Amino acid sequence: MIIILDPLVTEGSSQFKAVIETIKQIPDVSFDVHTIQGEYTTLTEIYLLGDTRLISEETFKAIPGVMKVISLVETTTQYPIKHQRHQGFTYNGVTFNQDTFHLFAGLCAVDTKAHVIQTFQAISQLGLTCTRMGAYKPRTSPYTFQGHGDRCLPWVFELAGHYGVRVIAMEVTHESQIESIHQALEKTGFATGVMLQIGTRNAQNFELLKAVGRQQTYPVLVKRGFGISLQESLSATEYISSEGNSNLIFCLRGMKTHFSAPHRNLVDFAHIPVVKRQTGMPICIDPSHSVGSRASAPDGLMDIFHATSQGIIAGANMALVDVHPHRKCAFVDGKQALTLEELPWLVEDIDIAREAYLKRIKLAKSQHKKHQLKARKEIFSSA
Ligand code: PEP
Ligand code: MN
Repeated sequence: MIIILDPLVTEGSSQFKAVIETIKQIPDVSFDVHTIQGEYTTLTEIYLLGDTRLISEETFKAIPGVMKVISLVETTTQYPIKHQRHQGFTYNGVTFNQDTFHLFAGLCAVDTKAHVIQTFQAISQLGLTCTRMGAYKPRTSPYTFQGHGDRCLPWVFELAGHYGVRVIAMEVTHESQIESIHQALEKTGFATGVMLQIGTRNAQNFELLKAVGRQQTYPVLVKRGFGISLQESLSATEYISSEGNSNLIFCLRGMKTHFSAPHRNLVDFAHIPVVKRQTGMPICIDPSHSVGSRASAPDGLMDIFHATSQGIIAGANMALVDVHPHRKCAFVDGKQALTLEELPWLVEDIDIAREAYLKRIKLAKSQHKKHQLKARKEIFSSA
């Protein structure tokens, strides 16, 4: 990191001393002062030496007399502690990494037993082993359905086991719910598995993030915060991994902005390659909460289908999709739910996009090889 002082700030001035004092408080970092004498001005640069990766530029920018702060550490290494080393993971027999793909179609919120059974039947008929089921719902209004909570866990888990479901994505809104889930699963003899979901509203609930990080039994699906930067959302994953749990998946679910209209959120799936590159984590997309409606394009495809394919063709490793057997009587988000009759269509459509993605990877590999060979030939012919 290089700190450039205002030309009027000289060594020995109070501003200079303030910068030096701040540096001295940072462990394992030393400094080197360079003074460049120009014709009209003198420029003072302070080089910070050592592990500067976690130093915020803002710390120095806030000191009067600092003109510029240059970080020499790439953004990619600003989040290096755990998830840089992510290689994916296997949980309850299902492998998640940057090469795999899993569809988690299911209920936004668990309502009746009959609906849960119908949903499990539909997904197991399609050979799917993962689903989503909301028991604890974070709602904008306190007067709307908040989810069945602990009460539904025993029968949801037992039924899931019966239908061969291996992983259920389930949001937790409070630390105590991790234990409730664990106890309920234990009572069924771990008939199924749970991936703890951190909702967009809790992307900066640091105590909850630390709590899901302290346990290593359950992997965690972290949703991007809807009103914060991507880097701030990635800090959520850092909170979890720095506590010891690196079995993480990051989920893009759209950003809250009025420019998103007529969709519920502005679809952000173009960030898939960015997050893959920066973190090594598998990336999930949530087209249901991004799009928020069942509107169709003139080509006959629902916007949700389009968004799903856009994510998959860009390399998504998981998709969270709301479905409901009778969406008009769903307690939460029936507006965007696909019906169970539409689910096989979605699966087939996803297969097309996934196949196209895999073909694109193959093409990229052959192109890289070709260009490398060409470059090598050029070196040899000029030698
Ligand atoms: C959900 O997946 O049910 C949900 C509430 O999503 P989000 O946190 O992205 O709004
Ligand atoms: Mn929902």
